[in-house]
Amino acid sequence: MFTLRNITKKYGKNIALDNVSLSISSGMNFIIGASGSGKSTLLKIMSGFDDDYSGEVHLYGKNIKELKSKEKSFLYNNTFGFIWQNFNLLEDCTVLDNILLPVQLKSTVDRKQAEKLVCDLKLKNVVNKQVKYLSGGQKQRVGIARAIMQKPKMILCDEPIASLDPKASKVIMDQLKEINQTKGITCLVNLHQVDVAIKYSERIIGVSGGKIVYDGPAEHLTKEIIQQIYQSSANDLIMDLQR
Ligand code: ADP
Ligand code: MG
Repeated sequence: MFTLRNITKKYGKNIALDNVSLSISSGMNFIIGASGSGKSTLLKIMSGFDDDYSGEVHLYGKNIKELKSKEKSFLYNNTFGFIWQNFNLLEDCTVLDNILLPVQLKSTVDRKQAEKLVCDLKLKNVVNKQVKYLSGGQKQRVGIARAIMQKPKMILCDEPIASLDPKASKVIMDQLKEINQTKGITCLVNLHQVDVAIKYSERIIGVSGGKIVYDGPAEHLTKEIIQQIYQSSANDLIMDLQR
């Protein structure tokens, strides 16, 4: 579905991504790495928000830099949904408006789907509340509903649980796993927490200093590789895993 070839991204002299190649086709994929390792930069390039890079991004075999902007928007709008760390919701609007407004802008709204999502994501009792009165976990469930309404093939998530407590984080991760399994939506999730990534992943991509240093199943992640990814002692991280 999605291929990056030899992507290099620089901010001035700082190399944020260094010759990264990567293909994503299905399943639950997690990009892990320390703060500043290049996870968000990778997602911004994949999501089309940043096209100032060298290398090629191919979506369904098409080099996106060669597409006309209308064709690119169409392809991206019909492929991706996004979930953000800071939710990116309209705080003064209701839960329902946040779920419906983005799709109203591009097509007719499937109200039945919206109602089902509100129930599935346990948002029924807050559906007419303004988002600013919701907890972080509730806000992120609105973010998930909004993303699913776009009928995406792939959901890109940048640190979706970074501002949530462990209980709310588990609910969000369980939901992502469920939409992958029941709707077949591919998930690509940036995460700082190696323990959560291992628990939910089919594939882990470890990024360090702008390079991919691991790409494979969680079972093959050794203490040494985790240490290499995080460039620090893996003991704390491993203790998290054993808990
Ligand atoms: P991560 O998401 O893994 O924490 P980022 O992709 O945000 O890492 O950052 C990768 C590198 O690029 C870091 O060195 C960061 O300081 C730098 N960087 C990210 N965004 C910008 C920006 N807008 N301007 C300058 N440098 C940036
Ligand atoms: Mg980041």
